[in-house]
Amino acid sequence: MDGKLADVKAIVYLRISQDRTDERSAVDRQGEDCRKLASVRGWEVVSTEVDNDISAAGKKQRRGFEAMVTAVESGHVGVVVAWALDRLQRNRRDELRLYELCQRKNVVLAFVKGPELDFSTAAGRLVADQLGSVARFEIEQKSERQARAAQQAAEQGRWVGGRRPFGYEADGMTVRPAEAAAIAAAYDSVLYGASLREVARTWNSQGFTTGQKRYKPGHEGEPSLWRADSVRVVLMNPRNIGKRVYKGETVSDAKWPAIVSEERFAAVTAMLKNPARISGKTGGRYLLSGLARCGVCGAPVHAGGTSRPGVRAYRCTASMGHFARRAEPVEEYVEAVVVSILSRPDAARLMQDDNRPDAEELRAQAVGLREQLDADAVDLANDLMSRSQFRALSAQRRAKLAAIDAMLADAGRVDVLGPLIGAEQVREVWDSLSMSRKRAVISVLMDAVIIHPPGRGTRNFNPATVEFKPKGN
Ligand SMILES: [Zn+2]
Repeated sequence: MDGKLADVKAIVYLRISQDRTDERSAVDRQGEDCRKLASVRGWEVVSTEVDNDISAAGKKQRRGFEAMVTAVESGHVGVVVAWALDRLQRNRRDELRLYELCQRKNVVLAFVKGPELDFSTAAGRLVADQLGSVARFEIEQKSERQARAAQQAAEQGRWVGGRRPFGYEADGMTVRPAEAAAIAAAYDSVLYGASLREVARTWNSQGFTTGQKRYKPGHEGEPSLWRADSVRVVLMNPRNIGKRVYKGETVSDAKWPAIVSEERFAAVTAMLKNPARISGKTGGRYLLSGLARCGVCGAPVHAGGTSRPGVRAYRCTASMGHFARRAEPVEEYVEAVVVSILSRPDAARLMQDDNRPDAEELRAQAVGLREQLDADAVDLANDLMSRSQFRALSAQRRAKLAAIDAMLADAGRVDVLGPLIGAEQVREVWDSLSMSRKRAVISVLMDAVIIHPPGRGTRNFNPATVEFKPKGN
């Protein structure tokens, strides 16, 4: 063998690996051994490439490996010298790539600790083929194994890692109480009519972040603020009701605890999937916008600014506009009335809701409809039904499903009045509520607030000009 490869140029490839602690791991010792081998064999070392798997940035560099591959590809070297087979490549894919390349270029792989693979000989090619097919087999097995493991984990409701989910610790299993409370409160807020942007603002003001880093120039490393779309992703995630999702489908009950009830989740996701369901009654910035009606024509009454700074007015929205009157006295009066209604000893009967739908029954109906939709598709595929029959039937079933989803959303509506009923100081609780929540309370208590024109020449607020239409009358 000696002399056969004389005048051959060699490239030395060194890799520092994290998983080895033996004394030879020092890269200079590796290099020394490799050069010694080359010199004994009479090879001229033209370059040395080094990769460091223990990089400070945590990102693994492979520039050295690529440089070595390029050198082999160029045909300038006849030998690659490395310390050991496991030092030559970081993974099976790189290994396979290198074998195929060396085979193509008739390049020798020589190891200080290990065999010498001469790809120009039949014996060398045989060994390389075998090593290559082992590598290929392992790659295939590994990806199959990974796919199977991922599916199994999903079916068993296990968390397999990834970015820390908001509301839970990094183990994906333990609830992080402050964040879980923020999530639960967000479901309530959305039900009461808050927008996703409002939720994002609240979370940001409470100091929560998405946990993701921003990669905008100048903002490296800053935690990202919540936005409507990132809040939406959190609220739509079945993880929050303790369900495990795999490839977009809910596949099992998760091992981790739920943060919110299924009813609440169904109600909110129904609203978010179909923004039309978010009633105009709860969206306004002012207490009575859209909730109040004009006492003359019945048109909705909206609040807005006036020519005087800082002064708001409620206006009839009819084309002629029957009045515009200062907002504050009207709002103060309405709030006082609401608080007095809720302070009555018999206020608890307001909580009774005879029309509350049965969520269990509705869910069963929805499941039935979805099964029928699937069955229709099978019938269509088996020519048991024409395409037009299928279309008509599907439209019918989907309409029913949409109606059920809407009712489910109502079933999930939390008791708006809950914290107010039986409160020692109803006024204090009322004052602590958000605008959307106050509006929700008013729309539960009353069908409408009727605002009349303030009357000619009156400077004082006249309670008779604001009327209430109680629920169900
Ligand atoms: Zn009017």
